[in-house]
Amino acid sequence: TVGAVTLAGNGSMATATSTSGLFMKKAGRVGDSPLSGSGFYVDSAVGGAAATGLGEDLMKGCLSYEIVRQMAAGKTPQEAADQAVYSFAETLQARYGKCGEFSLVAMNNRGEWGVATNVEFTFSVATADAAPQILIAHPAADHQTR
Ligand code: ASP
Repeated sequence: TVGAVTLAGNGSMATATSTSGLFMKKAGRVGDSPLSGSGFYVDSAVGGAAATGLGEDLMKGCLSYEIVRQMAAGKTPQEAADQAVYSFAETLQARYGKCGEFSLVAMNNRGEWGVATNVEFTFSVATADAAPQILIAHPAADHQTR
C-alpha cells in the first residue's frame, strides 16, 4: 500500500491510499486501505494518517482514526503514531499471542509529521521549501535518511 497525507497552502488536508491488498489474498477480501478510520483518516482541523501492513489487524484498531484522535487531544504526530502503534501491538500480542506488521504516517495541520512502525518502513517527506527526503523508520522511531 502507498499512503499519503497532504496539507495544502489554504490549510485543507487530504489522505489517500492505493493498494493491491495482501499477497495471495482471498477473492472478495476487503482490507483496511479503502476504509476510512482504518487505512486512512483526515480532519483538516487536526491532521491525518495513513496505514500500510496487515489490514486485518489495522482494522481491529482503527489506527488511522486513533492517531488523529490522539493529535486532537494534544499529542504531536510522532507521539500519536508511537502511542497508537505500540500500544495496539501490545494489545494484540497480549490477546492473541501475535501481531501483524504495520506502519503509519501522520501529519498535523501545521505540517509536523510522524511515523511509527513495528517492522521497517520506507517513507518520504516533501515540503514546498525542500526537496523530497526518503527516510527509513524503525520500531524505535529513530528515522534515518536513506
Ligand atoms: N494494508 C493492505 C491490506 O491489508 C496491504 C498492504 O498494506 O500491503 O490490504
